[in-house]
Amino acid sequence: MLQWWRGHVDGFLEQWFPTSCTRCGSLGGSPCSICIDQFVGAALIPEIPPLKSVAALLRYDETSRPFIADLKYHGGWSVVRGLAPALSFLLEDTVGAQYRDVVLTWAPTIPERARDRGFDQAEVLARELAHRSGLPVRRLLRRLPGEHQTGRNRFERSQGVHFVATGPIPEIVVVLDDVVTTGSTLAAAATVLCEAGALSVFGLALAATPDRSQT
Ligand SMILES: [Zn+2]
Repeated sequence: MLQWWRGHVDGFLEQWFPTSCTRCGSLGGSPCSICIDQFVGAALIPEIPPLKSVAALLRYDETSRPFIADLKYHGGWSVVRGLAPALSFLLEDTVGAQYRDVVLTWAPTIPERARDRGFDQAEVLARELAHRSGLPVRRLLRRLPGEHQTGRNRFERSQGVHFVATGPIPEIVVVLDDVVTTGSTLAAAATVLCEAGALSVFGLALAATPDRSQT
């Protein structure tokens, strides 16, 4: 809820104090129209089971990186507001006929990190997308703290990420994350959601690294 307040306050202030672009400093939004023109779309992401499909909006490169960092480290509301319309179209494309039944959620960041920063960037993204698309958003996953090893299988330990499902799980779920690198975070989230009853899980991210095997 605090994040919503922050978004509204930022939107309110923007009328008097226009946002300067995180990357180039131009006034008139972040990303500004000049930087938007320089964005490169993310390449198609190969299958990452058990996800039905995974899509990302932007290639993670020198143009998109400052905006992703703004979201990650400062909760960049301007960035999510600026990119949510395009992400909303991508969501429709990704999910297709199942769109009307989608419940949005996010792959929670490490709890200690979210606590220190006061927000979870993936949640900020999911909530703004819900606002834009009119789709419901729910917290469906809890991420166990980094030091928690009990109950992990070898794969999970090697990936260093472990989620548990919270509450009843809808049939069609879209999991949001800021950046797809190897896809292991989204895969771990989808595995838990499928085990808890989801029939179709899709992944959606703001950006994807061009060669995910390298990261
Ligand atoms: Zn700019």
